[in-house]
Amino acid sequence: MKITVDKDKCIGCGACTALAAKTFRLGDDGKAEVIEPAKDSLEEINNTAESCPVEAIKIKS
Ligand code: SF4
Repeated sequence: MKITVDKDKCIGCGACTALAAKTFRLGDDGKAEVIEPAKDSLEEINNTAESCPVEAIKIKS
């Protein structure tokens, strides 16, 4: 599974870091980044990706 955040789209709202704190964190630039290896369940990560207001999170299996 490969998780990516499109930093050009990310608005730094923090939703993903709240919903899946073991997978996403806010970087020094205020944008989300992926923590490797992601420790949240696939379901949680999928739900988090759907919660992103700008659809910046992509998951490839
Ligand atoms: S939910 Fe989306 S817009 Fe908000 S911080 Fe995460 S990746 Fe960025």
